[in-house]
Amino acid sequence: PASEQALAAGIAGTQPAVQRRAMAKAITLLESTRADHRARADALLDALLPRTGRSFRLGISGVPGVGKSTFIETLGLHLIGLGHRVAVLAVDPSSTVSGGSILGDKTRMERLSVHPHAYIRPSPSSGTLGGVAEKTREAMLVAEAAGYDIVIIETVGVGQSETAVSGMTDMFCLLQLPNAGDDLQAIKKGVMELADLVVINKADIDPDAATRARAQITSALRLLGMHAQHGHPDRGHEGASLWLPRVIQISALKGAGLDDFWSAVSTFRELQQASGRLAQRRQQQNLAWMWERIESGLRERFRAHPEVRGQLGELTAQVREGRTAASVAARRLLDLMT
Ligand code: GDP
Repeated sequence: PASEQALAAGIAGTQPAVQRRAMAKAITLLESTRADHRARADALLDALLPRTGRSFRLGISGVPGVGKSTFIETLGLHLIGLGHRVAVLAVDPSSTVSGGSILGDKTRMERLSVHPHAYIRPSPSSGTLGGVAEKTREAMLVAEAAGYDIVIIETVGVGQSETAVSGMTDMFCLLQLPNAGDDLQAIKKGVMELADLVVINKADIDPDAATRARAQITSALRLLGMHAQHGHPDRGHEGASLWLPRVIQISALKGAGLDDFWSAVSTFRELQQASGRLAQRRQQQNLAWMWERIESGLRERFRAHPEVRGQLGELTAQVREGRTAASVAARRLLDLMT
């Protein structure tokens, strides 16, 4: 197998065919669960890191059928026309349950997927959501090191996967259908609060419904904003440089509203860059990911620890039967690790 240095050089290189092969090999290495592969994958990430972070990271989510792949294909081709190189990665929460995939099938984005300036990678196909999201995050670094300057990360709406994707992107866009009820779901699941931009798709079907939806979601966002301002790292009281989440209408199928969309994204990006919030958001994301991985790693090590394994059954039974307090059992088990 190619060395990490060779892979890093291939990814950074200018030969498209070599680069694609190196990217595929790198991502396979990153997704491997073998310990020796993981060590090499970490060395590879160390080598790539200086070349990462120069893209704009755009999260796109929405329920199945809302038009994500239609939109991403149209947007991707539009951006390539403007001179960008576009990578599309996915976090598919269904893959963690069934090993199947809502987002993975090959017929999606037919024109974009064969374009030399696009790179499309389906969701890693197994593991916990945290694990799948982490692999996607690492694949994003590979794409950035290869010079893709727009990275789109797509996910289907199940709440948690949207949180994960908003936690690895610079801007999070929520695609909605132009009917009421859809937006209520998003509010209930806490997804609306994550959105920097809400995009109402399929406005061509019923323009009046789309206009009503836009008004409703705009006022919902205003209400949510009253709460979000305290907790949300990107939104403060800084006057002119403040970005307030917006709602726009598009038709992905007809390509209408694409300029509106991209101009909103560009305005957001400029404001975030000028105010320092872009860098701040990435810093916070990096630290959050580090802790998320530490906690999940500790959990795995705990469960694999021989003495914990020896006593976990007995202490679990004691807690279940009320013979030992939960907190006492937890401390005894944790003490076995030291
Ligand atoms: P995804 O599951 O979110 O990726 O949705 P798709 O992109 O596969 O779209 C689902 C269906 O909606 C397809 O039949 C698309 O052709 C259709 N569709 C997507 N965008 C639009 C739109 O703007 N207008 C109309 N009329 N249909 C659309």
